[in-house]
Amino acid sequence: FPLLSRIISHSRSSPDSKAIVDIPFAHSITYSNLVDDILSLTKLVSPSIKEDEARVVVLCEKGYLVPLAMLAVWTSGGLAVPILPSLPLPEQSYMTTNAETSLIICDNENRSRAEQLVEEVKKEGKTTCEVLEISLEDIRKNGVTKDEKRNALEGLKGRELDGERRAMMLFTSGTTGRPKGVVTRHSALAAQVSAVAEAWRWSESDNLLHVLPLNHLHGIVVALLPTLWSGATVELWEKFDGPAIWKRWINEDGKDPITMFFGVPTVYSRLIAAHSNLPSDLQEKATKASSTLRLQVSGSAPLPESVKKTWEQPGGVGGGQVLLERYGMTETGIIAGTGWEVEKRIKGHVGFPLKGVEIRLWDEEGNKQVTEREISGEVQVRGPPITKEYWRLPDATTKEFQDGWFKTGDVGVYSSDPAAEGQLRILGRKSTDIIKSGGEKISAVEIERAILELEGMKDCAVVGVDDEEWGQVVSVCLVTTRPEVTVADLRKELRNVIAPYKLPKKLKIYEEEIPRNNMGKVNKKKLVLEAFPPES
Ligand code: ATP
Ligand code: MG
Repeated sequence: FPLLSRIISHSRSSPDSKAIVDIPFAHSITYSNLVDDILSLTKLVSPSIKEDEARVVVLCEKGYLVPLAMLAVWTSGGLAVPILPSLPLPEQSYMTTNAETSLIICDNENRSRAEQLVEEVKKEGKTTCEVLEISLEDIRKNGVTKDEKRNALEGLKGRELDGERRAMMLFTSGTTGRPKGVVTRHSALAAQVSAVAEAWRWSESDNLLHVLPLNHLHGIVVALLPTLWSGATVELWEKFDGPAIWKRWINEDGKDPITMFFGVPTVYSRLIAAHSNLPSDLQEKATKASSTLRLQVSGSAPLPESVKKTWEQPGGVGGGQVLLERYGMTETGIIAGTGWEVEKRIKGHVGFPLKGVEIRLWDEEGNKQVTEREISGEVQVRGPPITKEYWRLPDATTKEFQDGWFKTGDVGVYSSDPAAEGQLRILGRKSTDIIKSGGEKISAVEIERAILELEGMKDCAVVGVDDEEWGQVVSVCLVTTRPEVTVADLRKELRNVIAPYKLPKKLKIYEEEIPRNNMGKVNKKKLVLEAFPPES
């Protein structure tokens, strides 16, 4: 399949260049090591794969074993289901049983958790499931001989995996409900990965600092796999560590310099906070180091203007880096990005479609396509990168995928900002971000942006609260550095920037932060119940 062929070809053209640097263990894995390790692990995995597309959960701490296990699952004909070890047992159990898993590949740290999950699968009674514990030592002890390697590579060539085979199941972030298993086939995966690699001009000389979890689109499909596709290097960090990231960019110990960095918006706000806690001599160096990176990307949730500004403005902590914002989802890969030219990375916009992606805005009430600027519609997409199905959710699959256009559930507009040249702007999710108040439709995301522009606002989430008179009322959850803020203050200050009917009517102050999932997203259905419980 395409990704593996690319890796094999890199291992021939540049066997000694680094593919993965695994920070917790300080391993450096060259492309040649990577291919040897994949083939060696395949020997251990394939006897346990009893049918095509058998679901194999990968339950390893973040590091080299995760991509290695996924690749070996593919060479063995299985369907890889990467699951985050730090998730609570009930969530892992839901994913493992729902996927009808027949094998769990784990590392030593997660052995007992894997065994617990096997018990859960047993209870469900649909599949038998076994555990395979792996370690790099064991894999290499059992390494392929030269002959085995030659045969294995020949065998892979001869088999030419069908692109329509299912490769991977990733669960959505569960922002609007239970996470849904999204099944990606090899051809769609290759289309997603190559579109990103091309859009961001990935090359062999790139070195990506990777701090994202390896169980979602962002960490795997947007960051890890395009690196391997391009013959570049990825440094997998087990954890987010703000000061350490700044120091790595400064690179005083002369390692290979970092050229790219990706984060969710909260990663950038945490980096801003970490920067202000650095000793003053380092602050300057850090800012300068940031300016030398080739590309910094933000995505997965709307990037607040205040963060963008603090990062980018002259004298800002990012050293003049203009963040590229991209928009995508588990079902589609990255579908739009503000793109290569810095002038087009305009606040509040998510850019133009990536290669192979067609986007349309659909007016559901009028049952017609929207083409005019500033008229909102549901974002719908089609093309080779788009997946075809949810796992074992036939109703949702029919509803969202049937006519060939995937319904994202997000609402967007084509921008009328002259500099933006008709870029897409996301107004939020249909189900929770479009507030219906007094017969008007109001975008929660737009109000959030406006609030975050006010003095002393650290974080906010706008939700619609059910109301007898208005249908819903605009309500704000807020974290602020000001000693006191009331709804009246907010209304007064926002009056010049948003229309009167959009002004908030309710407010709840949060001390530290607004609850977010590990992709930096707010579950607004949950938040609204917590912040504004219905009066009993
Ligand atoms: P679930 O589908 O389970 O509710 P989820 O939609 O949050 O969870 P993902 O597939 O990880 O799961 O996230 C995709 C969503 O993230 C998009 O549909 C969109 O709402 C949001 N998103 C991603 N990038 C951006 C961005 N740059 N700006 C605004 N929203 C974004
Ligand atoms: Mg979703």
